[in-house]
Amino acid sequence: MKHGLAPEQIVGWQGVSLRVPPDWSVTGFQGDAKEGYLRIDSPGSLVAEVRWAQARKAVDVRKRLDAYLNLVERQAKKRKVTFTGRIKPSEDWEGALEFNYRADRKVRGFIRQCPQCRRVVIAQVSGDKDDAVVNVANQLLDTLQDHSEDGWWTWALLGLVVRLPERFALVKSQVMSGYLLLQFRSRYTEVSVERWGLADVTLKRWTLAEWALQATEWKRLKRQYTQGDVKQHPAVQLVGRRLAPTVWLRRKIERLVLRRPEEVRGVVWHCEPSNRIYSVRVERGAEELLGQIIDSVQCH
Ligand SMILES: [Zn+2]
Ligand SMILES: [Zn+2]
Repeated sequence: MKHGLAPEQIVGWQGVSLRVPPDWSVTGFQGDAKEGYLRIDSPGSLVAEVRWAQARKAVDVRKRLDAYLNLVERQAKKRKVTFTGRIKPSEDWEGALEFNYRADRKVRGFIRQCPQCRRVVIAQVSGDKDDAVVNVANQLLDTLQDHSEDGWWTWALLGLVVRLPERFALVKSQVMSGYLLLQFRSRYTEVSVERWGLADVTLKRWTLAEWALQATEWKRLKRQYTQGDVKQHPAVQLVGRRLAPTVWLRRKIERLVLRRPEEVRGVVWHCEPSNRIYSVRVERGAEELLGQIIDSVQCH
């Protein structure tokens, strides 16, 4: 088990990231950058979970951990399951605490507060009694990062990897088997990243350009497109602007007085090796930003 795990898939959400084996998948997320939760399931009974909360000051992690474990114990009692738990100082991380408990499942995790970003993180791996929980937890939780070093957050789930400056907040997400959407906003700039599966089926009916224009937000825009290559894949590059005559004056003020770019720019490309179509769209943002985001996407 120890050598076969290969935690090589990156999962990133709200500034937290870790590596898991390629066949694990994100099955749940809640909250935002301030406080949230992420769950990643193995194909079997192992589950990794991360909870985070921002804090301004130093937090008593022992108190937080006690509160968390008390809650787990109370829930176990309700189900008439015996709970046993153990807490000890972590050997790898100063000030962090390691915990192990057993109720209906075996759990190994830690709590720590990052001295740099002050985030408090509780991360754990749980499994059935026959799972190598401690071993798996040691390998996966070792890869956990609670902030980024370069100011760009990695957003990664279900094989989609994209990086954005950390000022961008996730405002909408849709996770379906054949479709993935992540939408972000920072002040007036909006970024959408989309991914569709079964590109071969789609592209039997439509050309990439036809499809980009009718299946995406572009159909609502006055736009132009050119065809080219992105990441050595066939691509359609689009530039457009919103058709909204009622906000004409506001737009003119924004453009002339506030000097905000008003264009929408985007690229839709067909990644053949993964049989997927990707789209990145930046609305009212710098042209450079679009290129940086596209560069960060790992499409296959
Ligand atoms: Zn940190
Ligand atoms: Zn690709």
